[in-house]
Amino acid sequence: MIASYSPQQPKDLVVEVAETTPEQVRTAFETARAAQPGWGNGPAAARATALAAAADAVAGAADELADLVVREVGKPLGEARGEVARSVAILRYYAQQVFDPVGAVHEPSAQGLLFTRRRALGVAGLITPWNFPLAIPLWKAAPALAFGNTVVLKPAPEATACALRLAELIGPFLPEGALSVVPGDAETGQAVVENADVVSFTGSTAAGRAVARAATERGVPVQAEMGGQNPAVVLPDADLKSAAAQIAAAAMGFAGQKCTATKRVIVVGDPAPFREALVAAVEAMKCGDPADAETTVGPVISEEARNRITSVAKDAVAAGGRVLTGGADAERDGWFVGPTVVEGVPDRHTLACDEVFGPICLLQTAADLDEAVTLANAVPHGLAAALYTSDLASSLEAAARLEAGLVKVNAPTSGVDFYLPFGGEKASSLGAREQGKAAQEFYTSTHTITIAP
Ligand code: NAD
Repeated sequence: MIASYSPQQPKDLVVEVAETTPEQVRTAFETARAAQPGWGNGPAAARATALAAAADAVAGAADELADLVVREVGKPLGEARGEVARSVAILRYYAQQVFDPVGAVHEPSAQGLLFTRRRALGVAGLITPWNFPLAIPLWKAAPALAFGNTVVLKPAPEATACALRLAELIGPFLPEGALSVVPGDAETGQAVVENADVVSFTGSTAAGRAVARAATERGVPVQAEMGGQNPAVVLPDADLKSAAAQIAAAAMGFAGQKCTATKRVIVVGDPAPFREALVAAVEAMKCGDPADAETTVGPVISEEARNRITSVAKDAVAAGGRVLTGGADAERDGWFVGPTVVEGVPDRHTLACDEVFGPICLLQTAADLDEAVTLANAVPHGLAAALYTSDLASSLEAAARLEAGLVKVNAPTSGVDFYLPFGGEKASSLGAREQGKAAQEFYTSTHTITIAP
């Protein structure tokens, strides 16, 4: 069985469903494959109308969906509402992308007319994490559907109820079987990869690489968006108070459980003034019940996650580090960890090198921008990076040198604009970018057509 429990009320069973067997996954793909030609070859306007209607249905259920996100994954209400609004925007955006050109006409050859045309790939297999339980399924499903594919979605077990509710809301506007949800864990995910014509994955680096290997072995296109170990570099000429507030929110908001959360803060020059500002900003954040609109730091997803984060904090101290704030379980029911800032750990410590998916970040120092960029780049991941400065030349240098798919200047590492390409460098991503116009390229294939008179 797949059961998801509320992280703030661990006895609250949100949903319990049977795990989808590999045989049932195969059937879901057969049904989706049968639905694909009618959907993909039908008029573009019909797909636009369906996606716009789906957007309206999600908007109409906004409060209910936000409450479900709060309950199932512990996302603070303000962010949960933002995720619902973003989900609606994604559906509306791709409802319009349907009308984008799908090819180009070229000068004729000696043989005749030459043109290109993009066509859908078939059935997209989508495997998603729990931390954006509506937006990530939709930023994959909406473009896949818009460009004529049908979809089978394997959500994270911890976010099963959100995925099922989403499909219930959207399903009525699509042909039977065009979007189905197959609840399950890694084994169900593997069955999805074995049946899909194109695979889009978001989650941890280890799982993403396994998915990419299996899809490549079958010869189907795959994209994998994975973890981050995102740095924020603070130069002495930055507005320290504003930088501290932004970095605190990017590191600790939703208990640091975003792939783009700030995990390392690299201060150039004397760290004392910024250290003080950061600790004050973190301590000013409201932790607690995610259903309270004032809360910005809720629980982490599970007991296992809580134990890992607190054990990394203890280990940091054992390795010579200093906890500036937080470091322990918060004393209340549910999987709460106090927002934690640590400094002074060795370069090879987990906090310096690996993604710890929780409200914990490391403060580091560098003598100048050059050393800060070197430190920022000295990790396997490369998803997002931020620089805080008032100097244009430093901004341009960082934009050119930081090894990250998203570079922000005077803006937090967290936060993604759905109409721009999204993805990382190095261990953070494999394959084509997601979202924006990049999605059309991933979910379709270009055919080069010659028509002789
Ligand atoms: P996870 O890797 O544990 O699971 C992600 C999904 O993959 C789940 O649906 C899971 O059941 C499935 N899965 C796991 N192993 C599999 C396998 N071998 N074959 C097929 N499917 C498999 O990740 P999670 O805990 O749900 O999410 C947190 C992680 O996701 C973090 O590392 C975070 O950085 C990352 N993330 C990345 C992005 C991004 O866009 N880069 C966005 C959000 C989250």
